Amino acid sequence: MQGLPPGMTRRRLLAALAGTAAAQYVSAFGLEASPLSYTLKPQQLAKGVWYVAGAQEAISRDNGGAIANTVVLDSKAGAIVVDTGPSLRYGQQLATLARDLTNKDIARVYVTHFHPDHMFGNQAFRPDTLASSTGVIDGIKSMGSAFADAMYYAAGDWMRGTEPVMPGTILGTEPEDFGDRIIRPLHMTGHTAADLALFDEVSGVLIAGDLVFLDRAPTTPHADIARWRNTLAALGGISHGLLIPGHGPAEPGARGIAQTRQWLETIETQIIEAFDKGLDVAETTALALPAWTEKIALARYEYERSVMHLYAKLEASRWPRVDVR
Ligand SMILES: [Zn+2]
Repeated sequence: MQGLPPGMTRRRLLAALAGTAAAQYVSAFGLEASPLSYTLKPQQLAKGVWYVAGAQEAISRDNGGAIANTVVLDSKAGAIVVDTGPSLRYGQQLATLARDLTNKDIARVYVTHFHPDHMFGNQAFRPDTLASSTGVIDGIKSMGSAFADAMYYAAGDWMRGTEPVMPGTILGTEPEDFGDRIIRPLHMTGHTAADLALFDEVSGVLIAGDLVFLDRAPTTPHADIARWRNTLAALGGISHGLLIPGHGPAEPGARGIAQTRQWLETIETQIIEAFDKGLDVAETTALALPAWTEKIALARYEYERSVMHLYAKLEASRWPRVDVR
């Protein structure tokens, strides 16, 4: 938030400026550019299964935050959408795409977790069609506003008009029957405190959300790595066909599960060993990563972010406070 007064976000600044002469100034300098448009290119993976691949990048004003995969499934009951993208505008384009691909209205929209690149398109869908777990909904309630500020700052005008919207349907553990698809919600944890994966019991498609990253380094700011490892083992035990990760290419098999597990083990081991050797945060951040990670997008970026919070957790757990008894 460099350059803005304390407590002032870009969004609040623009709201405060609305209708004033300063708003014309903002407009004249291009901060209120003409509406932007995403290029949503659906890739068909199987009969009635498409996904829109997110950019293997960090959120920026170039990609408008469209970095996560979104999914459209056809069913007798209507289109099924998984995750809604980073903004109202993305959600609107995805809703249109889902109707065009299936020639049906939207029956269900699943939200896999509370991260902003997966749920800020919720606003474009009818609230009763939006479904997730209590944990995901609680996460959006508590963090949605802060995520909105962060997204307006990172993605700029792409976010215009976007507000956090809670799913109106709470999922239990029972599968939902759409006629020719039976979608089982899998309530899991690890990438965040509440992660929803979805398994189509008819076709074997497993939609993993951000529990699985492929060829893109996993993000860990809200992760519990021990739990995430257990969840990956559980996902690996599901006999599935196509696996659609939250980020990275969809493909049959379990390469994404194995790679996500390998990444988590690699960074956790490296950070703990550095801590035990007495390296400080800067020295730990500067360590080289193993050669296999060179083909993983954003490896260094995500490793450095992971050091920042995992190192702090190690300090808190390993070093007792000396100022209290
Ligand atoms: Zn995520």
